[in-house]
Amino acid sequence: MYILVNRDEDSSVYNYIAQQLLNGSLGHEKWTLAPKNSERFNLLFGERKSTQLDYTRIGHTSGLCQAVNYYRGSERLLCKKVPLVKYVRSLAESEQLAYQWMPVSFIILPEQLKSKSETRKKLHAKYTDERNNLVALSSTLKEKIWIAKSSSGAKGKDIFISDNIEEILAFVDEQTQGYVVQKYIENPLLLDNNRKFDIRCWVLLDHEYNIYIFSEGVLRTSSEPYDPNDLKNITSHLTNHCIQEECSTDFGHYEEGNEMFFNEFSRFLEEKHQVSLKEDILPQINTIVRKCLLGLKEELTTEGLGYHSFQLFGFDFMVDSQFHVWLLEVNGAPASAKSLLPDLAEELVRKAIDPLFPNHNNNEPGNNCHSDSKKCCRPSGGFFKKI
Ligand code: ADP
Repeated sequence: MYILVNRDEDSSVYNYIAQQLLNGSLGHEKWTLAPKNSERFNLLFGERKSTQLDYTRIGHTSGLCQAVNYYRGSERLLCKKVPLVKYVRSLAESEQLAYQWMPVSFIILPEQLKSKSETRKKLHAKYTDERNNLVALSSTLKEKIWIAKSSSGAKGKDIFISDNIEEILAFVDEQTQGYVVQKYIENPLLLDNNRKFDIRCWVLLDHEYNIYIFSEGVLRTSSEPYDPNDLKNITSHLTNHCIQEECSTDFGHYEEGNEMFFNEFSRFLEEKHQVSLKEDILPQINTIVRKCLLGLKEELTTEGLGYHSFQLFGFDFMVDSQFHVWLLEVNGAPASAKSLLPDLAEELVRKAIDPLFPNHNNNEPGNNCHSDSKKCCRPSGGFFKKI
């Protein structure tokens, strides 16, 4: 009998998995739930905020193999927009190379933070304000649109788009956290009816730092036509689900819940553009994911520590009209598209949890009809594929 502590109650994915483990519905022997403050557990679904999850409390209970569903440091290094910019730049030998798969980006520290000197000191200790470089570059470019995004922003909040760099900086200076000002992708690939989209891919990092990508991804679509001459109509520019649902009267008109899955996207690409999702788009995505995660291996790995980590990430991309893939952000605690949740959750258990806590009811870990080689039982199901 294995012991679970679930403190990740905001996560639809981990709550679903907790339920499955506790009622034995994956064909497992049943897990048992321990109180939230218990230190005797095998598996901890910890708080998604790194400031709340105390890693120093894990791995000290002798005789217990312990694991947690986050990698320490991933939030601080990868899953916020300001550190992501710094990290992606550091990956490349020259800045030009860095921007082959992330739009050109600058870190801007708001003027308003000057009055909050402690916060400003902390930010300044880590980052330099890059507004001079931004202004210099923008004056040389023909494409004038920029997008300002807060470092820990999500769901399309606190975003500003403009073709006037002074206006962008004035907006950021009113804010209370670090910002990224990023080159706006002005020539996005558009779906039928000229609609923009972004792509969410789910990526799993297991306790041995193997990287898996879920075979099924989702396009979050806009329900308004894209218009680069009208930057105020956010529904045509921001494809976040909640923005579309709240602000567009056409929400759900083209795709149920403004979600398009890979089968349909693949058909669209082949029929309209003679482009292959499998051969032209997904390899670019895999390369970006690998670059992002492999470069952090030394800092994130739990090898040699008294506990194990694994983590599910949400990588968000855009594709431009030349079929070039761009990384927008990495989410460290992604939700799942509703229709994918059962497969995603089950696969996460097979790939990340079973190897650590073998399922005695089911012979060997992973030795079941859902492993890659035997996915015959679920013809339409998604699965995690090692990349
Ligand atoms: P959030 O964390 O708030 O979702 P994102 O970086 O994902 O922030 O941006 C929100 C949306 O804005 C994206 O889904 C996409 O539609 C649009 N967007 C973000 N960055 C760019 C960009 N550089 N060029 C064009 N559109 C962008």
